[in-house]
Amino acid sequence: MMIRALVFIALLGLTAACSKTTTTSTVTNEVPAPSLEQIAENVWIHKSYADFPPYGPVLSQGLVIKTDEGIVLVDTAWTNGDTAIVLDLIEDTLGDDPDMAVVTHAHADKMGGVDTLNKRGIGGRAHPLTNEDAPGRNLKPTQYTILEDRDIDTLMGWSENGVDHDGPITVYYPGPGHARDNIVVYHAPSKVLFVGCLIRPGTSNSLGNTADADLSQWAQSVRNVAATFPEAQIIVPSHSVAGDRALLDHTIALVEAANAE
Ligand SMILES: [Zn+2]
Repeated sequence: MMIRALVFIALLGLTAACSKTTTTSTVTNEVPAPSLEQIAENVWIHKSYADFPPYGPVLSQGLVIKTDEGIVLVDTAWTNGDTAIVLDLIEDTLGDDPDMAVVTHAHADKMGGVDTLNKRGIGGRAHPLTNEDAPGRNLKPTQYTILEDRDIDTLMGWSENGVDHDGPITVYYPGPGHARDNIVVYHAPSKVLFVGCLIRPGTSNSLGNTADADLSQWAQSVRNVAATFPEAQIIVPSHSVAGDRALLDHTIALVEAANAE
């Protein structure tokens, strides 16, 4: 019930932002199936949709990143069932299952499929605040935590001749924004920065679901992301197509406008 209510609130924001046409009815079979789309070398976006009649399907996106040490899934689909479909697509396309998953905050669009990760033996990782907030939102915490004693870390590192090397994937906690626990994930080789729900779609003129947001710190958190990843070029948010760094400034402007009201 709580999730339903939160998603409904999210939806009000999304539809207000994204839709100028009026949808009066939507049937379930119009919901697109989960899909996988390559956006850079070794990087794919996975897409899944939740249907909320009468508003229609709501897109949520995550990443799939292939490294020399294995495959990393960033965020699950909305549900366990669609997460299983996404994992099948990954196996078909990349020839293997993810070795680990990272989820970027405690809402259903980002971690509604943790049970499926557990069933398939894919260790899920989340910020400690995410795993603290998950049960109260009817979500399963992930198996492991990351960023426990630091705000930035790398994944998929390796050892060679007794020397440890950082992996190509960076996870970063910039401070509260869309939610108090939102993290971002950067893949340096492709310059792809996954920003989840911290960054709004470029077409949006609202902040979406602010039920768990921190409006006083959101803009600074986005500035922290911009400063931490000055070389990031492809910015991938949860709910719309990838864009360039202008998406970061757009979200700062939306937050500042909301705070000025
Ligand atoms: Zn969220």
